Amino acid sequence: MSDPHAEVSSDQLKRILKIQETPRAAMPEQASLLDLDRQGLAAFLSDEPRFRTDQVWTAINEKGLQPDEITSIPLTLRTKLNEAFPQPLDMVAQQTSSDGRTTKSLFSLDGGAQIETVLMRYDERATVCVSSQAGCAMACSFCATGQAGFERHLSVAEILEQVHWAKRTADPQRLSNIVFMGMGEPLANLDRLFEAIDRITTDIGIGARKITVSTVGMVPAMERFAAEKRQVGLAVSLHAANDDLRTELVPINKRHPIAELIETCRLVRAKTGRRVSFEWAMIGGVNDRDSDISEFARVAKAADAHVNLIPLNDTPGYPTTGSSPQRVKEFARGLRERGVNATIRSTMGDDIDAACGQLANRDR
Ligand code: SAH
Repeated sequence: MSDPHAEVSSDQLKRILKIQETPRAAMPEQASLLDLDRQGLAAFLSDEPRFRTDQVWTAINEKGLQPDEITSIPLTLRTKLNEAFPQPLDMVAQQTSSDGRTTKSLFSLDGGAQIETVLMRYDERATVCVSSQAGCAMACSFCATGQAGFERHLSVAEILEQVHWAKRTADPQRLSNIVFMGMGEPLANLDRLFEAIDRITTDIGIGARKITVSTVGMVPAMERFAAEKRQVGLAVSLHAANDDLRTELVPINKRHPIAELIETCRLVRAKTGRRVSFEWAMIGGVNDRDSDISEFARVAKAADAHVNLIPLNDTPGYPTTGSSPQRVKEFARGLRERGVNATIRSTMGDDIDAACGQLANRDR
């Protein structure tokens, strides 16, 4: 992208919206075991004794086992399951940061698209950052995924298997939190996202309050969070508090401008009882000026949101650098002085290009 500050053209916006509304762009040809609900599994196992359904369901969905690992069922059944259902993800590469805390995996999907998933181990929790699409149609200029464009939505199984990978990789630490902040716009793949979340809370046992979904601000989908009183955390990638700058950075702003977003955040708060948070990647000289502090404080207060500042991570297609650590702190202080609850996100895994905005579908 040559000029990151170029105005979004109406053609570009049309392209974004068209892709986002494509219902089934090249999904996997064949369902995986994790795509089946209990009824579907029971139908597949109709020739087996009734108790097999519960046994296989628990092994696959709760314990995250592969058919080969279910030693409590006969070998013939293991083979039958293996032959009928493909693995949703095929690991291509895995890297761990020098401090050992961050592990990033590159997976290849049916059809050849690739995604990345990141596990972050903190002292008191382990969090997985899950991808919801291969690539992304939202075209945010400073994000590596946005620079590369959209490939396709992920299936429920492809989403869930990332969580199972993280559980296995975190072991013996317990996987405690899930953030839908990997590749893709989760709210553009909403039905599969909701189904995956429901399955995570019921089968994997990670509560809705330990799950956060991040969005560029897709208002109609946010309204569904409100209507369904979803208890997962909602994070909105704001990055600018006036419409001109936000449209440059996050093109969907042209469709859903800031005033509409504020109203929707208030609706989510009113219906779910949960405040949204605003993410703000700090870009030197672009959105870290004193005027940004006062504009942002006004918007955050109007939306009743708390704020998470993200030091900008380098991406190949965006020339501007991040704000200095000093400026990030001053910016946070400025917001707090204006009555906004602001925190600074700690950067993890930037040495393996696993930090916010650095996920791209290529092997490095
Ligand atoms: N599409 C969703 C989910 C991705 S979350 C969304 O945009 O919210 C990834 C977060 O990292 C978003 O807040 C995104 O704006 C932010 N981000 C993107 N590029 C970044 C970069 N280069 N440095 C820091 N944060 C970045």
